[in-house]
Amino acid sequence: MDIKISDRFTKELPADPNRNNSRRQVLGACFSYVKPRVPGDPKLVHVSAEMAANLGFSDADLRSDAFRDVFSGARVLDGSDPYAMCYGGHQFGHWAGQLGDGRAINLAEIEARGERWTLQLKGAGETPYSRSADGLAVLRSSIREHLCSEAMYHLGVPTTRSLSLCLSGDEVMRDMLYDGNAAFEKGAIVCRVAPSFLRFGNFQIFAARGDMENLKSLVDYTIEQHFPEVLERGKQGYIDFFNSVLDRTLKMIIEWQRVGFVHGVMNTDNMSILGLTIDYGPYGWLEGYDRDWTPNTTDAQHARYRFGHQPSVALWNLYQLANALYPLVEDTAPFEQALQRYKSDFSIAYAKMMAAKIGLSKRLEGDDQLRGSLQATLGLIETDMTIFFRSLSQVGMDMQAGQALAQVLEAFYDPEALEGAVKKAWLDWFGAYLLRLQEEATNDEERKTAMDLVNPKYVLRNYMAQLAIDAADGGDYSVIEELYELLRKPYAEQSGSEKWFAKRPEWARHKVGCSMLSCSS
Ligand code: AMP
Ligand code: MG
Repeated sequence: MDIKISDRFTKELPADPNRNNSRRQVLGACFSYVKPRVPGDPKLVHVSAEMAANLGFSDADLRSDAFRDVFSGARVLDGSDPYAMCYGGHQFGHWAGQLGDGRAINLAEIEARGERWTLQLKGAGETPYSRSADGLAVLRSSIREHLCSEAMYHLGVPTTRSLSLCLSGDEVMRDMLYDGNAAFEKGAIVCRVAPSFLRFGNFQIFAARGDMENLKSLVDYTIEQHFPEVLERGKQGYIDFFNSVLDRTLKMIIEWQRVGFVHGVMNTDNMSILGLTIDYGPYGWLEGYDRDWTPNTTDAQHARYRFGHQPSVALWNLYQLANALYPLVEDTAPFEQALQRYKSDFSIAYAKMMAAKIGLSKRLEGDDQLRGSLQATLGLIETDMTIFFRSLSQVGMDMQAGQALAQVLEAFYDPEALEGAVKKAWLDWFGAYLLRLQEEATNDEERKTAMDLVNPKYVLRNYMAQLAIDAADGGDYSVIEELYELLRKPYAEQSGSEKWFAKRPEWARHKVGCSMLSCSS
């Protein structure tokens, strides 16, 4: 394997001088050196062929023992010095102090095909930040992270990537539903890939500890390495940096809302400073269009991280980041201005995104109302988000409302509920929509082509990941590969894959892993 290591983070930022792998508060450092745990009997289960190619691995590399060993943690790459990062975070609205990479270990930064990447193992053993946990990950959550990272990338959503999925060969004890029924599960390790895994929490921890020197070093480093759009230095540079993080975060959230992704744990330690979707845990995909839905059972009571709340939670998180950066600027006005701008920019971007989903290329008066009433109508009876928007492109300008409604019938979970006031609401909406289409300059075909590029045909429905997990538990990895391939082209019609363009089956409605997920992973 030919890997060009080029570490910058560890070269330029202060390391924890203590190399012991004992759990502790780490002060005055951005990271701690730590070696991955050697797994009992590692097996390579799946590789993202595309990510492997991006990183310059050959087919022979992927078949080699060296690949399996490095990406399961069995062997440390020559010339590398793995490390875990120190960060804090607000969890469910409360400052939680030091968290850090409790089970993530960065192997190295590398250069491949002109790009720089950090390789990070998740589930490769304890670190100084493991607190009371074991540093491990189980197969089910690792499959979910591996498949979803790659699916999100192909959907066009900013995200960390996943290179590989290995079984560790060890058993890991988990109480999946936190109900006192702990059991052994298969341990697994994913190799995640991103330009950087820095989170809001990496900055917050220094601010919380009053360590301005390291706060400044880390911000300067981040701007230098990852924010080429920030040209100024000094206070103006920090303000521009914050604005840039805000823009990237906003863009990410718009994409989540477009495809129906619910992160599930938008704590500030799970917010990437690069605006990438990070930490795939109890995430879920909206099936019925229910803006109040959250997949995370740990969050069921307040549903803080429900679908419809994601835009405002991101803003709340940005306020926390602003607080952390404030000491470098010592003026609240520019932060307030930026945070204010989030609201207006978000409404503009959201309106544009939703207009694209329903095939409107012009922006006309009345569009907001059309969109608002669509949102309300979608909530009347259980209506599958993915199927609805994908099918909507089949509506023709010259259709009657009833004919148009017939195009999306497949989206309703209970077609018999489509009657009376509900049916009338839909017919009214389609009536208004068809009138509005008359104002468009595009023809049906052009509109369909454009709509099919923003409304995916295939997403990683919650039960689909669970099918891959159930098969893998029995040693059959073919479903992982099938879904990986399917989700590489989420916008394409794929003959032979129609079964994945279907509503969630009834058995999955209340099944653990399909509609209910805990943070246990
Ligand atoms: P999360 O909300 O899952 O992103 O995790 C919050 C914090 O808990 C992070 O610092 C994680 O590294 C840590 N953590 C989660 N699971 C484990 C585990 N099994 N072992 C060690 N640390 C963990
Ligand atoms: Mg996390």
